[in-house]
Amino acid sequence: MTMQPTVAVLGTGIMGLPMAANLAGAGLTVGAWNRTAEKAESLVERGATVHADVAEAVQGADIVVTMLADGPAVADVFEKISGSLEPGALWIQMSTVGVEWTQKLIAAAEKSGTPFVDAPVMGSRQPATQGTLVVLAAAPEDLHDRCAPVFDVVGSRTVWLDEPGAASKLKLVINSWTLATTTAAAESIGLARALGVDPAAFLQAVSGGGVDMPYLQLKGKSMIDGEFPASFPAHLALKDVALVLEAGGDKVDLAGARATRDHLAHTVEAGYGDEDMAAVYRAVVKGLH
Ligand code: NAP
Repeated sequence: MTMQPTVAVLGTGIMGLPMAANLAGAGLTVGAWNRTAEKAESLVERGATVHADVAEAVQGADIVVTMLADGPAVADVFEKISGSLEPGALWIQMSTVGVEWTQKLIAAAEKSGTPFVDAPVMGSRQPATQGTLVVLAAAPEDLHDRCAPVFDVVGSRTVWLDEPGAASKLKLVINSWTLATTTAAAESIGLARALGVDPAAFLQAVSGGGVDMPYLQLKGKSMIDGEFPASFPAHLALKDVALVLEAGGDKVDLAGARATRDHLAHTVEAGYGDEDMAAVYRAVVKGLH
């Protein structure tokens, strides 16, 4: 029988909490830490140990998973744990941090002699809860097997790429698509309302056809109902569209992403940053700017 690794999950927000719960549920020894400690407490019932101190959380861990908001948060937390890691402990970095921050984190890992896996995920609250995320992973081949006990539990599929950093690039490509479709849905539903057309008729008309997509039906319904419970909070979507624009630089004209950034910025400024990114609809139709 192969020994299951001990895993430290740092960050138990919308994504990290169900991921840690599933790892504990699968029989792995899980230690968890979250800046706001109460958010991790429910993991005790799932068999995980919750630590108040982040350095303590990584002691004894074979694998450290970071699932934090952004690059600065991950860098800050890694600085706090790097002196407490077990020799040879593997760092699987699953937060969305973009191109430049991934390079900074790779450099920090190298400096501390920590093997690093660039592994952002595709999927939101529900797939994280169901253990059906798609893991986009990039690391030297000799590390792949060590990641399997984590990836097999949190995800239904792993897409392996070669160079660390490549997975974070792919994640931005996917998010540029996700963000664009959300804004497009908001505009079409907004246009329907402006023209006096029932927006539900738009979703119904395209349903099942070539231009339909489950995401349109999901986010479109949320926009029509005016209810935006967060799967992917608008403030994190704003962070991601900024990462997309930064990565694209002057190599490609991302006019759509610029429009999405402006709409999301207005959504967040108006106080809706903790709502789902579908709340971008508020900026498109309600003139938040
Ligand atoms: P979330 O619910 O907002 O959780 C963010 C986590 O980061 C919380 O644990 C938060 O701690 C922690 N954090 C923020 N700033 C920190 C700092 N300076 N120091 C230490 N901890 C800090 O977000 P999430 O949805 O779980 O997302 C986590 C990551 O996954 C993000 O990079 C996001 O872009 C990415 N992601 C999200 C989704 C999604 O649909 N939600 C999908 C794919 C990828 P507190 O609880 O104390 O605030």
